[in-house]
Order: sequence, then structure tokens, then C-alpha cells
Amino acid sequence: MKITVLSGGVGGARFLRGVRAHVREAYPDGAGGSTASVTAIVNTGDDMWLSALRIAPDLDSITYTLAGESDEERGWGRVGESERVSDELRAYNIGWPWFTLGDLDIGTHLARTSMLRDGLTLAEATDRITSRWPLGVHLIPVTNDEVETHVLTQDGADLHFQEWWTRHRATLPAARFVQQNVEAALPAPGVVESIMTADVVLLAPSNPVVSIGTILGIPGIRAALRATRARVVGVSPIIGGSVVRGMADACLTAIGVETAADAVALHYGSRASGGVLDAWLMAEEDASLAPAVEAAGIRASVVPLWMRDTETSAALAAAAIAAATHSNT
Ligand code: GDP
Ligand code: CA
Repeated sequence: MKITVLSGGVGGARFLRGVRAHVREAYPDGAGGSTASVTAIVNTGDDMWLSALRIAPDLDSITYTLAGESDEERGWGRVGESERVSDELRAYNIGWPWFTLGDLDIGTHLARTSMLRDGLTLAEATDRITSRWPLGVHLIPVTNDEVETHVLTQDGADLHFQEWWTRHRATLPAARFVQQNVEAALPAPGVVESIMTADVVLLAPSNPVVSIGTILGIPGIRAALRATRARVVGVSPIIGGSVVRGMADACLTAIGVETAADAVALHYGSRASGGVLDAWLMAEEDASLAPAVEAAGIRASVVPLWMRDTETSAALAAAAIAAATHSNT
């Protein structure tokens, strides 16, 4: 069983932890000869150069979470983190004073930057970084090219996504999200293949605009999702009309999509009508919206969507895989 997951950072990481737990239980190595592999295609639109470092927030969030190295209380970054280097950089007025990098995290960025300077691609650097831990999931950046997301605000400012999100907490009304240099970008090696050869493709409950939307914007990805024989199943990041954690509603509003489970499904669209979805998982709170999703040609399943811990995330992953398998009939 080959499972390919499109993923952003923190929401995607929680989901992937559930996919891994489900796979370990459903396909224990050697039992009955059936095995499963999980590949995550990861958003790189939030990546940036800062203080001479190449930073890849979503790749690192997933890596730390799957490695058991993430700070669960704070919700991001490494556990047991300190900030001595950031304090020094601030004294030199280097970097963004509102963007603190932890010391351990800087170690990862130094390693990545060093590998890139040695001529490795981002995907090759990611392979080397992730080989440090038995993650159980193969992470591939969606592209090796630098395609950074910028936000054009209604006041005419042009900000890196990270500045709009972290410094301004997504409060400056956005007019548009732009993927810089996206026309020239290529999917990283293995990305299209992992979609085309998958048995199941899952869209994590990640930010539909700046995580999944950015992945779908890389040339070739939509075509692969439309061409694959695998069923494509999305998980709603919206529960009861709310984004659960974070500020993704500000992104949806900017592109004219209501913060609602059915609206996001319709935004992705059904494969039968030019979109990418075969099936959509939505929460019990949103059961009344299921007919609207089905009317758009997307099979709707109503299941618990809260990822409170590994068990609930694993149950969600199992439901997503079941939705993919059942919709074959
Ligand atoms: P980021 O890159 O760190 O912003 O993370 P992602 O893009 O992967 O995911 C962020 C999204 O995850 C948020 O906008 C939420 O809508 C969604 N999310 C977070 N926790 C949960 C959860 O427990 N269940 C569901 N269904 N979605 C969640
Ligand atoms: Ca992100």
C-alpha cells in the first residue's frame, strides 16, 4: 500500500503522525507480507533566507514532530529549546526581531544551508537531514526551486508570507497571494511519481491556501492528481465553521472562499469537473453540509476530525484511507 500525503506544517505533521501510527498497526512489518509506505509532499512556500540561513518551516515542523523532537506544549519548534543565538543576532540588528529562531533549530538551518552551498538540492538536503531519525515517512519538498509565497495587501504592500503571518498575525487585509517565480518551477524528483504510483493520495487538513494551495500551484502537480489511478481524499481543516488552530480563515477570506467545510471542498473541486478531489472528510458538526459536497460530485464522509493525540489522528488517517478504498466501488 503506497500512501502519498500533500502536507503543510503543523496541521500536516499531526496528520502524518496519525498516518504513520495507523500504518504501523494495519501493516506490521512481515505480517501477511503486506507492507505500506508513506510519502509526504511538503509545502515550501513559507521557506526563506534569513540571517544567511535557508529556513524551511514546514519540512522542519514535520521532521521534528515525527522525530518526537517537537515542543508539544508550545505547538512548534524543538523541545528543550534555547534562544541564545537569536539574542546575539538581535544585538547586531540581523534578521527579523519578531522572528525568533531557537538554537537547536538554527543547527538544522546551518546544516541545510551548508548542504545547499555544497551543491545539494533541497530534496537531497532533506533526505540527509531526515536520515538522522527513523521518521517512517519519506519527506519530499514539492519543489527544489525557490518559490516563496508573498502577500499583496489591500494597502499595496508586498510582504513575504512569514512577515504577514508571524509579524502581523494575518491582520493586514490581503488582496492576493503570489508564488514568486512559480512559472519556472519544477516538482522535485519523485513528487509526480509518488502521486502517479500511489494507491491512495491524501490531502492533509492543512491550510488550503498557503499550504495545499501552494503545492497545487507548482506546475505539474494538478495534472498528476487528475491523472493518477489512486483515489484522492481530502480532510477538512475547517470544523464547525472554524479553522481550529491558527489564522487560515484570513487566507480563505482573501481568496473569496468561505471558512466552511463545504466551501473548501468546492474550492478544491471534484476530479470529475476539473478539480482534484474524489472524496472529502468532514466533521460531525458539519454533517448538514455533506449534501452540498456530494452535489458537487465529491463523496462526503462524516467522521471525527479533531486530532487531539496520536490515537485520534490515527483514526482519522484510517477513515481517510477507507474513504479512498470504498470509493473504488
Ligand atoms: P502550518 O503550515 O503550520 O500552518 O500548518 P498546516 O498548513 O499543515 O495546517 C494548518 C491547519 O491545520 C489549520 O489551518 C487548521 O485548520 C488545521 N488543523 C489544525 N488542527 C486540526 C485538527 O485537529 N483537525 C483538523 N481537521 N484540522 C486541524
Ligand atoms: Ca506553513
